[in-house]
Amino acid sequence: MKTQVLKWANLLGETGIYRLLCPGRLPVFMLHRVTEGDDGVPAGLPADQLRSHLQYLSDRGYQVLSMDELWHCLHEGQPIPSRSVMFTIDDGFYDHHDVAAKVFDEFGFTLNFFVITGLLDQQLWPWDDQVSYAINHARVVNTDIRLPSGLVYSVNLEAKSAKTTIKETREALKAAPQTGIYQWLQEEFFEKLDVDFPSSVPPEYRPMSWSDARSLRERGHGVYPHTCTHRILSTLTAAEKREEIRDSLKRVEEELGYSPEIFAYPTGRLADYDDEDVKELGQAGFDMAFNTVPAYVRQGQDRYQLPRFSLPETKADFLQIVNRFEAFKERLRG
Ligand SMILES: [Zn+2]
Repeated sequence: MKTQVLKWANLLGETGIYRLLCPGRLPVFMLHRVTEGDDGVPAGLPADQLRSHLQYLSDRGYQVLSMDELWHCLHEGQPIPSRSVMFTIDDGFYDHHDVAAKVFDEFGFTLNFFVITGLLDQQLWPWDDQVSYAINHARVVNTDIRLPSGLVYSVNLEAKSAKTTIKETREALKAAPQTGIYQWLQEEFFEKLDVDFPSSVPPEYRPMSWSDARSLRERGHGVYPHTCTHRILSTLTAAEKREEIRDSLKRVEEELGYSPEIFAYPTGRLADYDDEDVKELGQAGFDMAFNTVPAYVRQGQDRYQLPRFSLPETKADFLQIVNRFEAFKERLRG
């Protein structure tokens, strides 16, 4: 039923009716991993699916905005073009350069990369991916784990799927101080699940290089910081927040030779950052920041809390955001 309604709604969307009724809204999409199928990328969006989305935009003359173009809309009041979209990709893994960027290059479209500088510096791999890795390699399937918050989480991989266990563990970890999260993972979490802690970053989580990042900039893509360690900012002390924001900015400046003024919060829900972080970003010289609240960017909204949609895999879900049917529904809801 829902599929049928969406099909008709999208056919109507082809006429441009929702874009006409809901002007001034820009969908900014967020990608994670992208795979050609034989490259070992864990749980990635198939590159051909991405191609098919971009082909749609290309065929219909959509404009894929760069950060500069968005800046002009938000700072100088230039109208947001009715046929426009924007794309971002978070974290900085190898497939972002080797697969995703190549697909965007095929269409001459801009992609904006938010990179974890500690990952590109090969000092760490993200805590949330360490959680998935440990659960997927667990030799102990049933154990109680004391979380950094002091609460106990019971892992029972016979009763619950790995996917659910990963999700629940990550949620619990987002809600507690993350100061010592990396040490805790290695000493408590991997230990309890009897998983060998890899001596170097597992191949599926390896980063792109800084030289890849420089090449992206030369090809017209954007590269911006996404903290040093991907820890949830709202759980950190003032000194740690400052370090995550300022040091990641500094690393991008050093490696790419320019001042990136745009930032994306790790995991990016409203609970994952706070007013102090927004203030710190402003003081450090940042000018815009993205969260992960699924909504359209509009003129006049808080530039440090720009929303993003997760890029849907299915064409129907992608179209309803692109053709502004989502915005029309928002309007109907009042
Ligand atoms: Zn991220």
